[in-house]
Amino acid sequence: MEFRNIIDTQKSVLQRIELKDWKNRGIEVSVKRDDLLDEAISGNKWRKLYYNLQQALHQKSAGIFTFGGAYSNHLLAVAKACSLLGIPSLGFVRGEELTPASNHTLEECSAYGMKLEFLSRELYRLRNDKMFIDELKTEYPAYYAIPEGGANFYGMIGCQEIWKELPGDIDHVFVAQGTTTTSCGLLMGAGENTTIHAVPVLKGFEVKETMQKQLVYALFDEELTDSLLERVCLHDTYHFGGYGKYTEELLTFIQQIYAATGIPLDPVYTAKAFFAMYNELEQPCYDGQKVLFYHSGGIQGCKSVEEKEKIRFFHAG
Ligand SMILES: *Cc1c(COP(=O)(O)O)cnc(C)c1O
Repeated sequence: MEFRNIIDTQKSVLQRIELKDWKNRGIEVSVKRDDLLDEAISGNKWRKLYYNLQQALHQKSAGIFTFGGAYSNHLLAVAKACSLLGIPSLGFVRGEELTPASNHTLEECSAYGMKLEFLSRELYRLRNDKMFIDELKTEYPAYYAIPEGGANFYGMIGCQEIWKELPGDIDHVFVAQGTTTTSCGLLMGAGENTTIHAVPVLKGFEVKETMQKQLVYALFDEELTDSLLERVCLHDTYHFGGYGKYTEELLTFIQQIYAATGIPLDPVYTAKAFFAMYNELEQPCYDGQKVLFYHSGGIQGCKSVEEKEKIRFFHAG
């Protein structure tokens, strides 16, 4: 299959939503529904994979290897994309106690033909270490390596291109942050009057430093990087305890937003970012402003929470 045809980006509609008193205050909120791109090659993961897949094909790579945690949206996206393209895929998973049957994400990855190798936490920590990657490349010659979360230059460029599908007059963009690749890409493509509101889902994570490093790497320009970073507004108090943690309040919020808008949110990433936006828009400085919520997908990650909490998120009542 031609790689660009894997996903039809027209499925990612721009959905206007009206909640609270937004309408009276002239706040226009739209949601860029990248969650609708594909269930498995979901949201920002497709954006980050696009140019990586192109490279892997150009290099006639023997396969692709990458890294991810037990419920990784990225691993699943790579698994399905590779299966559609007929490229062997290999996933290095964090946690030697796991097996391909440990959860629905890993089961699905295997079903798409991804070979899974389980690494100890100690080894997994080396996932961005050049020597470790080189070692893996001697073990898997001619494989194309994609870092965890698709966090590389090509990933960023793919996210910058989301702007091709967006109106140019947006004042504020709210986006969930893991590795910061998506927010960096959005920042690179944003107009000079657009503020990027980044909501890190990890606790105590050096966001600005991470973004600075990635942007300098991509742009070769520290001044430009600093001027871009001035347009980032960090909301680092919405992590709900840290990565993968959530509260009863967040789960209830997910149900409320789904009932009011039909938009599903996941408790790891998008619900936290949406909660931040919902809260921040209370401030009068947003009156009359055009706001975009970038829905980065990740709904497959919900299944485990649903099972654990014995609730059905998306069926309020
Ligand atoms: C991976 C992921 C993110 C994090 O994106 P980064 O580019 O790593 O900052 C955000 N939302 C969802 C749903 C994700 O799966």
